[in-house]
Amino acid sequence: MVDSYENMLKSAYAGMSEPTDTGERFVMPKAKIYFEGKTTVLDNFADIADSLNRDPDHFMKFILGELGTAGKIDGSRAVFNGKFEETQFEAIVTTYVNDYVICSECSRPDTKLVKDDRVLMLLCEACGSKRPIRKRKVKTEIQRPVIEEGKELEVHIDSISKKGDGVAHVGKYILYVSGTKAGQNIKVRITRISGSVAFTQKIL
Ligand SMILES: [Zn+2]
Repeated sequence: MVDSYENMLKSAYAGMSEPTDTGERFVMPKAKIYFEGKTTVLDNFADIADSLNRDPDHFMKFILGELGTAGKIDGSRAVFNGKFEETQFEAIVTTYVNDYVICSECSRPDTKLVKDDRVLMLLCEACGSKRPIRKRKVKTEIQRPVIEEGKELEVHIDSISKKGDGVAHVGKYILYVSGTKAGQNIKVRITRISGSVAFTQKIL
């Protein structure tokens, strides 16, 4: 049984570079999101939970706690109240992976969660090490893009305004970009800010 599992691991790793101490072999899943009204949909929620080999409910509970919002699993997607950015989901997935997936001894993701005397432990199936899940006191630090005049950033055009300008959302700001189409990712420079509205110029 142990032999066959090791063989399975070997074949799974065949063709991949040796795992490094920093766990670089593990590819962090990318978050695919879109907005639906006042909610943010994480389109590939089930895929991410699957690639992390974790219980979707556990993963969802973690995301909700980190975002500080309500939401629900909807088939293979997850829907969150409020507008959030891809970078926020990716920061949260990274935290989750470090806390609940990656073995701190060998940096491999071949782990499972087990209860040991009511303490949640991370058991590594690759090296056999076992560690308690540490309780974090702080939430994932999320780098929010800074919106200020003169700042350059890439934005995603969500829609087109009545005046024909592209509309992008960054945090609480609405950005207007002229001469774009919905669905485009475009690099802009912020020219003027008025309240939570920012006017921009395309950078060609
Ligand atoms: Zn390990």
